[in-house]
Amino acid sequence: MTTTSSIKELLKKRNLKVTELRMALLEIISSLGKAISYQEIQNSLINFDRITLYRTLNTFIERGILHKIILEDHQSFYALCSIECSTEGHQHQHVHFQCNQCKEVSCLETKEPIQLAISNHFVDDIEITASGLCQECYN
Ligand SMILES: [Zn+2]
Ligand SMILES: [Zn+2]
Ligand SMILES: [Zn+2]
Repeated sequence: MTTTSSIKELLKKRNLKVTELRMALLEIISSLGKAISYQEIQNSLINFDRITLYRTLNTFIERGILHKIILEDHQSFYALCSIECSTEGHQHQHVHFQCNQCKEVSCLETKEPIQLAISNHFVDDIEITASGLCQECYN
């Protein structure tokens, strides 16, 4: 459960001032528990101007609070990061899954750690987008 106080705590830890928009944005995303589309964010935060909203999203990405998911159809989604992500960088070991039926996007941990070895290259980030049916649509 993410509460108002834990969101404030998170902003403080990442050296960000608590603003109305930052709070509102993180409250929406954390209560959802899955990725949210840029469209949905805009629809939920109609009282804030688009430029500020866009900047806030980018700040959160820079500070390791959110990450952006870009799907094949160029739709953007945003999801909360785990505690491993920080201002220094993102540490993702999960797959982005879009359900073909309900179109919802979520971050999913895989049973086995994702590893990719390419000779003579150092891999520090892997982007995997999977699609199919989510648990709810499958049942
Ligand atoms: Zn991250
Ligand atoms: Zn579904
Ligand atoms: Zn994710």
